Amino acid sequence: MFVHRLAKSGHRRQFPRWHPATTDRIPEPKMDTKSGAGERLSRTQGEILKLSHRIHAHPELGFEEERACRWLETLLADHGFAVTHAACELSTAFIARAGSGPLHVGICAEYDALPGIGHACGHNMIAAMAAGAAIAAAAVADDAGLTITVLGTPAEEVGDSSGKIVMLERGAFDGLHAAMMVHPAPVEMLEMHIIAASMFDVHYTGKPAHASAFPELGINAADALTVAQTSIGLLRQHLKQTDRVHGITTHGGDAPNVIPAHTSARYIVRAENLDELRDVRAKVLRCFEAGAIATGATLEIKGGTKPYADLQPDHGISAIYKRNAEAVGRAFPDLGVLGQRMAASTDMGNVSYALPTIHPMIGIDSLPAVNHQPEFAAHCVTDIADKAVIDGSLAMAWTAIDLALDSEMRERLMMRR
Ligand SMILES: [Zn+2]
Ligand SMILES: [Zn+2]
Repeated sequence: MFVHRLAKSGHRRQFPRWHPATTDRIPEPKMDTKSGAGERLSRTQGEILKLSHRIHAHPELGFEEERACRWLETLLADHGFAVTHAACELSTAFIARAGSGPLHVGICAEYDALPGIGHACGHNMIAAMAAGAAIAAAAVADDAGLTITVLGTPAEEVGDSSGKIVMLERGAFDGLHAAMMVHPAPVEMLEMHIIAASMFDVHYTGKPAHASAFPELGINAADALTVAQTSIGLLRQHLKQTDRVHGITTHGGDAPNVIPAHTSARYIVRAENLDELRDVRAKVLRCFEAGAIATGATLEIKGGTKPYADLQPDHGISAIYKRNAEAVGRAFPDLGVLGQRMAASTDMGNVSYALPTIHPMIGIDSLPAVNHQPEFAAHCVTDIADKAVIDGSLAMAWTAIDLALDSEMRERLMMRR
């Protein structure tokens, strides 16, 4: 039904602005906004979970998430959101808005999958939680003094020039007072250690030759990559504990009896923050240069121009989220060393430098399965995951409501922008 409607609408028009139907309202004198949001969520939860499972069953890679994007847009439009398709000139980005209150909260929806292992980072749950939270909060937005925007942010997994980075540059976050999203993880974490990251492609070009008859006439691009990888191995002694260097060979040659004339690799370098990232990246690039110098191959680096920033969570909003998550029954265990050691990256870090942001992790009790494993993908549609989707939706909706109703918080957020 959704698809049919979209096909007829041409999928590009602006949907009408949302006005709450009077039948959905709790009678006067004063509605309790949080229970109003909760009631709306419980009436919608079937649709929210269906969306989570549907996206999970149809994984799409970054910037190719046509179906997930359309399903989200349709669901939000059906619930009265004004939807802009292909926001910021990205075909799989969207902006959906409801309410007209003074405090403007953005909720980010991610929906990209990983090559070969599907929704092994659980972005189907992120998308569903963003929709659930927004629909719940929209039910009471005008009473709470809220405007709610869902930002459909594609391609979080790509590691460079991703959806949120481009959307930030193109103004999608302008006018927002706070941004939030919830990400699934093996265990619950309020403020995960989010470090900076840069992904780039490395290309070596050498010269082909018969590998046995005329090897002296060839320039071996595979050797260049081997020298670079050996240099990176030696560099590890000099890296900080928060630095990371990891990559894959994307092309290693064509035949064992032909000197490889072209090889390529894709690498990610990470560090505590963007300043430290610059230093580590320069050292890693020298390792790739070493490969070119040693073999005579030429080196070309592509991408890596728009890195992910570390995430600076707004501790005040985090505390409010924690209270609300605990109120719906979530618990935040002390992870000790594991919590320190675990570090990942997200383009939500870039958002956190532009406006107050939180990115809590919701636990789906998957250990020993962890993110980016097929076993984790399987955990992202279990009953435990579904419960997490509803809990995360409600905790975010209530957090948005609290931000609007807490006068001190509201003033702080609105003063900034
Ligand atoms: Zn991931
Ligand atoms: Zn992820």
